[in-house]
Formats: sequence, structure tokens, C-alpha cells
Amino acid sequence: MRGLVIKNTGSWYSVKTEDGKIVESKIKGNFRLKGIRSTNPVAVGDHVQIITNQEGTAFISEIEDRRNYIIRKSSNLSKQSHILAANIDQAFLVVTTNYPETSTTFIDRFLAGAEAYQVPVTLVFNKIDLLNEDELHYQKAVINLYESIGYQCVEVQANAKKDKTSSADTLKPLLKDKITLLSGNSGVGKSTLINSLLPHVNLRTADISDAHNTGMHTTTFSEMLELPSGGYIIDTPGIKGFGTFDIEKEELTSYFREIFKFSKECRFSNCTHTHEPGCAVRKALEDHYIAESRYNSYLSMLEDKDEEKYRAAF
Ligand code: GDP
Ligand code: ZN
Repeated sequence: MRGLVIKNTGSWYSVKTEDGKIVESKIKGNFRLKGIRSTNPVAVGDHVQIITNQEGTAFISEIEDRRNYIIRKSSNLSKQSHILAANIDQAFLVVTTNYPETSTTFIDRFLAGAEAYQVPVTLVFNKIDLLNEDELHYQKAVINLYESIGYQCVEVQANAKKDKTSSADTLKPLLKDKITLLSGNSGVGKSTLINSLLPHVNLRTADISDAHNTGMHTTTFSEMLELPSGGYIIDTPGIKGFGTFDIEKEELTSYFREIFKFSKECRFSNCTHTHEPGCAVRKALEDHYIAESRYNSYLSMLEDKDEEKYRAAF
């Protein structure tokens, strides 16, 4: 029987089968996924085959090829990694211009990671009710910047009362029938957004405390929340964004879309856009075709030789 893994508690996997049933399944101890050494070979978002033994216990027997997946290295020394989620259609990065302030460097690092995974990102600007005129003005400029690069942006108030246009109304059509990773710094309003999308079942809080009570390590716990209007939200507690990825310096340019566009005109094909003569990127920066904040984020990632620091940002 074929199904979609929607919850991983570390020992059990909830599989939603094609006829809509939820089957609690296990994996065999010797289960190995070719090519990947992982502490958990199965992740939420995986399409799997399940078989049931004579005692009625369901086992995952097969995992279908993944379109993409995000990982987190368990530690630097071991080559083991933890797969957080698979087959992600898109990511929503929740950001706030204030209370708390999300830095453009954080946004750009997230976007670069998403480019590496080829996951489209929508920037969700939350808490618009808290912004003064200057902050709203600044936010508009930031939105203009990211839209000009090609990222979809929406403004919401996650805790809006019913009489106002709710954030759920804005977001539902964008989430429909997709698997969406919800990310953002803590305090930006992710839980509030989830609760507005799923007002009747406060799954998130309940399940997290459940996981804590059983002494479960939260990093092995992840789940997808099914939206009544179709689609799933991937909620990985404590995970701010993409897992680590080993990025080559030469590749970095390609993860900044607009910088990449200009880099094709640079005199040297291996131009780092820092000091080289005939650099079209620095020319575009001077001519204000590339935003300084984006260029600075690019530089900060380029200069980030300290792997640990680099990883901490994701
Ligand atoms: P999370 O850490 O990203 O899950 O953030 P929470 O959902 O816990 O929200 C952090 C705080 O911000 C809570 O006190 C929320 O009530 C508040 N909050 C969330 N969204 C909004 C909003 O749009 N406007 C205002 N004023 N407060 C919000
Ligand atoms: Zn250059």
C-alpha cells in the first residue's frame, strides 16, 4: 500500500495512505536507504510502501525517490545526517521588520540555501499591525527589492481578529495542495500563523508537549500538518531553515539570482566580485542595479570560512 509520511516521532511513522487512512508504521531495524547514511532513513514528506505482518504491525518496506530533502548533520565528526523532511514544494519564510527585527542577512542566507535546494520561497512579512509609518515605508522598500529579484512577498497579521482580512485567507490559496516548509526566527509568529490556519485543532502545541513528555529528543520529531483546504505545512520544532549544505565558493554567486545574472558579464569566469578588474557585479552595484544589502550578504557568506558560524545561520 502506498502512502505519505506525515509524522515521525523517532520510533513510529504516521503514514497517510491513498484511501485517506492514517497507518502507524515502523521501520525494520536493518532498513537502509541507498546512498544516505542517516539516523532516520524515513522523513516526513516521503512517499512509501507499507506492508502489514501477521500480527497486524505495519512496516515501511520501500521509499520512493525524493525530489529533494533537507538534512541536518548530527555532528561534524560523524558523517551521519538527519533528514528533516523530503519532497518540499516551497518554503514560507516568516519575517518581521520589527518585534523582532529580521535582518536582511538572515533572509539572504535563507534564500541562498533555498536556491541550493531549488525550493521556491515566499517571504511572509508578519506583524504589520505593530509597524509605524517609517517602518512600513522601509518594509515596502524591502518588499520591492525581493519582488524585483523574483521572490513572492505577502504582508500579514497572524493574530488578526475575524473582522479583518485574516492572514489565513491570504495564505490558504498559496498553500493549497503543496508541501510547505514554514521557517523563520523564533518570535516572528509561526505558531500564531499555524493556529490561524488550523483554528480547531491546536495540533502543534499538543504534539510537541506530547513528544517532550515521553522523553523524546525533539530533533527526531517532525510532522506535517494537513490543512483543511488542502496541502501540508512542515513544522520542525527548533529548526530555523534549511539543513547544512556544503557550498563551494564558486557556486555561491549562483544562489544570489540577480548577482548571478550580472556575473556572466565579468571579465573572469571565476570572478569572486570582490576585487577583480572588469567585474560586472561591482559595476552593477555602483549603478544601483544590485542592492548593497544583497551584496553584503553575498560577501558575508563568501568570507564565512568558519564552517561552524556558517552552519549556525541555518
Ligand atoms: P514563533 O516563535 O515564530 O512561533 O512565534 P509566536 O507565534 O509564538 O509569536 C510570538 C509572539 O508574537 C506571540 O506573543 C504572538 O501573539 C505575537 N504575534 C504573532 N503574530 C502577530 C501579529 O501579527 N501581530 C502582533 N501584534 N503580534 C503577533
Ligand atoms: Zn565579478
